[in-house]
Amino acid sequence: MYKIMTPGPTQVAENVRLARSLPCTNPDLDEDFVEFYRETCEKISRLLHTENETLILGGEGILGLEASCASLTEPGDKVLVLDNGIYGKGFADFVTMYGGLPELYTVDDKNTIDIPALESFLEKSHHYKYATVVHGDTPSGMLNDISKICPLLKQYGILTVVDSVSAMFGEEVNVDKARIDFLCGGSQKAVSAPPGLTFVTVSADGKKAMDERKTPIASFYANLKVFEHYYEEKWFPYTMPISDIYGLRAAIDNIEKDTKILARHASIASAARNAVTAAGLKLHLESGFSNTVTVFCVPEGTTDKDILEAMKKDHGIMLAGSFGNLAGKVIRIGHMGENANIPDMAEVFDALNHVLKKLGVPLKADMKEVFLQSISDPA
Ligand SMILES: *Cc1c(COP(=O)(O)O)cnc(C)c1O
Repeated sequence: MYKIMTPGPTQVAENVRLARSLPCTNPDLDEDFVEFYRETCEKISRLLHTENETLILGGEGILGLEASCASLTEPGDKVLVLDNGIYGKGFADFVTMYGGLPELYTVDDKNTIDIPALESFLEKSHHYKYATVVHGDTPSGMLNDISKICPLLKQYGILTVVDSVSAMFGEEVNVDKARIDFLCGGSQKAVSAPPGLTFVTVSADGKKAMDERKTPIASFYANLKVFEHYYEEKWFPYTMPISDIYGLRAAIDNIEKDTKILARHASIASAARNAVTAAGLKLHLESGFSNTVTVFCVPEGTTDKDILEAMKKDHGIMLAGSFGNLAGKVIRIGHMGENANIPDMAEVFDALNHVLKKLGVPLKADMKEVFLQSISDPA
């Protein structure tokens, strides 16, 4: 068993694992379960600062993204796809699949989306039904400022679908203030439950857009409307994965109690970046550093595989490489959710000191030392 310090799936707390072993009722027939489901949804909404309804779907993160696109897209709809990363671009596939016409707004993938530049683009071009926005683009560690991007799109009447799967609960999310229409999350990132669930918050404007469709939603499973009357009718569109939801609830309860969660993510992320740069390694990004994952370039003279293998074999720690255009180029340390703790991160940097030296990479500083010295509030 490795210590998983990957940017999702993340470590899972014992109380979450135990909650998954509670006795199971029949989730289709037991009305107490409908209450439990709704309460869990309401807690998620509260933590994301929204009056909007949350729906938990039985499927991992990707299902939330696809269901949002499927539920909104009608043949011929124009959709603006904000793209400065792999997940950003990936949204275009969902739009196309459901008959929409994606227009990529592709910008520099080493920098966070520039708000004034987006503003000037929108002044000239704004006839879109909705836009897709990635909050944290995990393969590169890119963070985009949804608190500015989403209200800007809303000014032009453009609905937003936001992928915050790897960012929420490690980064500030205020759905109502940012006027986000569809916000997607997943169980296996900062939430720190096992993979298997996604959840989506849907605004009144989002519901209206689904109601006003002229054509039916071209999916059953990736369809948010099938949940419309579940509570009144005490009827789920399909049997809910009850043990997964028990686990999710315990993880959400943990987050609710953890009043310093965002400050801790920020402090650990900033200390991690200090450790990397002080050692003479290079961060992949120039701006938009997320607080949930640190991404550094594979140093010359070695490979991502050598680093990842030695971390596993010599130290029992699993880090991640990346994929797409970043395959082989970077190493990712996931410090989100349960992973965002000082002892585990200190262990990662201690191990990286040894592994990189062993692979012949000269280091200008002791990464563990710099990491620990850089922690601003060791809470
Ligand atoms: C993890 C993640 C998802 C969910 O995708 P999986 O690869 O199936 O885990 C979606 N969006 C982002 C940004 C993610 O990091």
